[in-house]
Amino acid sequence: MSLAGEPSFRESVDLMFNRAVRVMGLSPGLEEKIRVCNSCYTVRFGVRLRGDIHTFTGYRAVHSEHAEPVKGGIRYAMSVNQDEVEALAALMTYKCALVETPFGGSKGGLRIDPSKWEEDELERITRRFAYELIKRDLINPSQNVPAPDMGTSEREMAWIVDQYQRMNTTDINALACVTGKPLHQGGIAGRVEATGRGLQYALREFFRHPEDVARAGLSGGLEGKRAIVQGLGNVGYHTAKFLTEEDGVRLLAIIERDGAIFSAEGLDVEAVRDWIRLNGGVKGFPGATFSADGPGMLETDCDILIPAAMEGVINLGNAARLKAPLILEAANGPITAGADEALREKGVVVIPDMFANAGGVTVSYFEWVKNLGHIGFGRMERRQEEARHKLLIDELERLSADQDLGWTLSPRFKHRYLKGADELELVRSGLDDTMRGAYQQMRVLWHDRPEITDLRMAAYVVAIDRIAKSYKSKGL
Ligand code: GLU
Repeated sequence: MSLAGEPSFRESVDLMFNRAVRVMGLSPGLEEKIRVCNSCYTVRFGVRLRGDIHTFTGYRAVHSEHAEPVKGGIRYAMSVNQDEVEALAALMTYKCALVETPFGGSKGGLRIDPSKWEEDELERITRRFAYELIKRDLINPSQNVPAPDMGTSEREMAWIVDQYQRMNTTDINALACVTGKPLHQGGIAGRVEATGRGLQYALREFFRHPEDVARAGLSGGLEGKRAIVQGLGNVGYHTAKFLTEEDGVRLLAIIERDGAIFSAEGLDVEAVRDWIRLNGGVKGFPGATFSADGPGMLETDCDILIPAAMEGVINLGNAARLKAPLILEAANGPITAGADEALREKGVVVIPDMFANAGGVTVSYFEWVKNLGHIGFGRMERRQEEARHKLLIDELERLSADQDLGWTLSPRFKHRYLKGADELELVRSGLDDTMRGAYQQMRVLWHDRPEITDLRMAAYVVAIDRIAKSYKSKGL
C-alpha cells in the first residue's frame, strides 16, 4: 500500500534501515550492499482455465544471499507488486539475522484473488507458478525455501513440494525445498500456530521486564490487559487465541475486512472465528457492537494494539489519533516510517515486526532441519528420557518406603515428570528460547545506548551487525 504523501513500503523499510545504520559506523558501501534487494524475478505465465487462457503475474525477490538458502513466504493477493515483495524480502533478511536462523531473505507473491478460484484451479495455478520458480532454482532446498504467507497455507506448500519432487526425482533433500508443509508430508508439529505462538512468547518476554513495560506507561503483567486485534487470519487468530485463553488478556475488539466488533467484556476468539466461517465477516456477531468502519477501531482506547493484517494500516492519516501505548506488530510492516516517527514522539512502544512475528520462520527453520536430518525431533531420546526419569521416581519411592519417610509424589507431578518431550514440546521450547534470546539482545541496546531510542532501531542494529560481519568475512 502506498499512501498519499508517504513513501512506498520498500522505501519505508529503507528509511527504518537508514535510521539504524546512522548509529553503526559501517562504510557507506557496505550499508548500500546490505540495503539493496539483490534481485527480483517477475514471471507472467498462462494457465488454461474455464475454457480460456488466464495470465498470472508472480514475483520472487531475493534481498540478501549472505546466507543461503534464502527464506521467505509466498503471498497470494491482488495487491502483490514488486515494491511489496522487495520490502518483505528485506524484512526477511533482517528477521532471519535477528533470530539467528541461517538464512538470507526472500519473498514471493502471486497477483491473484484466491477466493475467485476453485481448489483444483488453484492447484494448477500454484503448480505452474512453482514450476517457473523451481526451474530457476528460486525454489530449492539449498538455495531458496518458500513458506506460507498471506493467502497461502499448508495446502499450497503441499502442491509446491510435490511439484518439486516431480521435477527432481532423485533429490534426497526434496522435502526441504519448502516449509509450512502438512505434517504428513514432511511438516513439523506446531508450524501452523508458530507465528501466533511466537507473538505470545514475544509479549510474555516484554512483560517480564517491568522497566520496559513502564516505558509504555503500563504496569503489571499480561493478565487483564485490554487488546485489539486487526485481522483474524492464521497469525491474528492464533495470537488472539493464545493471549486470551492462556494469559488472561481481554480482547476488546476484532477488526476484519467487513468492519469491526467491540465488546467491553471481551470477545471469545473461537466463537468469532466460527461466526466468520459461517457468515463471511464479523457483522452480526451476537453480544458485540458492530462498526462498519474497521480501521476506525484502531483508534479505540486499549492497552495493546495488534495489527495482524496488512502493511501500512497505521500511517500518517491515523497515527496521531491512536490511543494504544503498546503496539505488537504481528503483520509485516503495518506501521509506515512516518507513523513510526509520530508514535515515537508520542511515547508509544512498538514491538517490531521483524522480532514479533519471527516465530513463523523460526519454526520453518526447525522444519527445514528436520527434513535435512530425515528424522523427527525427539525420536531418539524421548523414551530414554522417560526411562531415566522413571529411575529417579522409583528410587525416591523406594527411599521413602525403606526409611518410612511417608513421601508421596502427586500423580500429576509423576505424569508430567515421566513424560518425555515430543516434537511439539521441543518446537515450543526452541521457539520460546529464540524469542527470549532475541528480545534480550534488543533490550540491552535499547537501555544501554541512548542513541538507540526504540526497539525497532535496536532490532535493526542487532540484525545489520550480524549481516555486516557475514559480508566482511566473505571479503566484502
Ligand atoms: N511468511 C512468514 C514471514 O513473513 C514465514 C516465512 C518463512 O517461514 O519462511 O515471516
